[in-house]
Amino acid sequence: MTVTRADAHRGTVFDVVNPATGEVFAQAPQHSPADLDAAVARACTAWPAWRADAAGRRAAMIEAAAAVEHSGPELATLLTREQGKPLAESRAEIARVATRLRHFSGLTPRTELLRDGRAMRSELRWRSLGPVAAITPWNFPLQLASAKIAPAFAAGSTVVLKPSPYTPLATALLESVLGAVLPPGVFGVVTGREPLGSLLAGHPDIAHVTFTGSIATGRKVAVQAARGLKRVTLELGGNDAAIILDDADVAQIADALFWSAFRNCGQVCMAVKRVYAPDRLYDDVVAALAFRARRAIVGDGLAEATRIGPVNNVPQLERVELLVAASRAAGARVAAGGHRPDRPGYFFAPTILADVPGDAAVVTEEQFGPVLPVIRYSNLDTAVRAANATRFGLGGSVWGTDLDRAAAVADRLECGTVWINHHAELSLAQPFTGMKDSGVGVAGGEWGMYGNLRPMVVHRPESADG
Ligand code: NAD
Repeated sequence: MTVTRADAHRGTVFDVVNPATGEVFAQAPQHSPADLDAAVARACTAWPAWRADAAGRRAAMIEAAAAVEHSGPELATLLTREQGKPLAESRAEIARVATRLRHFSGLTPRTELLRDGRAMRSELRWRSLGPVAAITPWNFPLQLASAKIAPAFAAGSTVVLKPSPYTPLATALLESVLGAVLPPGVFGVVTGREPLGSLLAGHPDIAHVTFTGSIATGRKVAVQAARGLKRVTLELGGNDAAIILDDADVAQIADALFWSAFRNCGQVCMAVKRVYAPDRLYDDVVAALAFRARRAIVGDGLAEATRIGPVNNVPQLERVELLVAASRAAGARVAAGGHRPDRPGYFFAPTILADVPGDAAVVTEEQFGPVLPVIRYSNLDTAVRAANATRFGLGGSVWGTDLDRAAAVADRLECGTVWINHHAELSLAQPFTGMKDSGVGVAGGEWGMYGNLRPMVVHRPESADG
């Protein structure tokens, strides 16, 4: 067994499992409440100098991006071993970390002159809220870490981050990599099981809690943060619908549709999680998706040929199995997959479910795994209503050849981001938010930076005798 990250830690540790083998391959420190306090204290100490030095921050973030790229191969291997995703996806995730750091190094809060008609000069300035608590899930540990730290750094905030105990190692390595170029205390990582996240969310010296994870945990985090009247940003679960219009070219969209659902083994907040297909194209859509599900190379993410890795952890694997079994019992037909392959590790064959009743749990809940239900519709209005009949509101997409018609349908979807003929591609400049229970606050782009800032207005007369 390789002991990683825990080597220098004298306290207790916990096991980290490689989901491709089901075996423990490393250990990580179980940080104590005292360790957490110390990390927050370091973030508080580092904050005044960090927020005061915009030029220094910009230079440090550019250096940080280069450091991430330099350590790319080591980070990618570790990420794949603890998360399961194919190496190509790990490399892409790390490239996005570097790109995001560079992008945000170029953003600075704007001071604005406010005019209200009086002979008064009123200036709107932005002030860093203070040290940030970041809590991340196990599906994109590094990408989501960067989605929190880059806007916080741009705003002049320092960050203490707690990754999921399923995937603590790559984030801990990121801390070492960035620690070599950032001032001490600007970025700290604490690892461990609960109640560490809960303690971090409620820590009295934290000003802003930014959380990505499930809706259920998001609610708990919001309650913790509310006790201290902290700002919260919550990026929560999704159950994105893809509506196929009757003029869609199935052969042309099938690849993009399939990978929008199965990238990262379906463990993507804004994956396509349910497909609504019209009568006319229903069989073609099911056949095209099932064909791709059967052909996709499933295996250990460390093998270069692998396109779909294992599910990350046992509870998630069991959830996927349960949802498939319940769908079958409700009358769904398994068009591809539907079982665990006979091999070690947490694998589940990419699964396409056809003839799924609209009220099956796999449709109404977030499966977050390699399973995609295809629901038949006869009337487009009914499909739009079904797509919106949920407490989720993260993303959605519409697929068809008449782009104006598709755009009009997209406009009717109740979610934070919609796409036409693709799904889940985000630009660094865009706001990222979920409607309904899928999120609170806005991350992404300069909105993400402003999420770490508070306005401060300075009024002064135009002249000394004014
Ligand atoms: P989770 O809610 O179980 O855990 C998320 C994080 O919260 C982990 O670090 C976990 O250790 C920590 N945590 C657990 N209990 C806590 C508590 N009481 N207080 C504070 N922190 C606590 O989620 P998960 O299973 O790791 O991730 C999957 C979920 O994340 C899915 O619902 C997915 O849709 C969602 N997600 C959303 C986005 C988005 O941007 N909207 C992105 C990725 C994942």
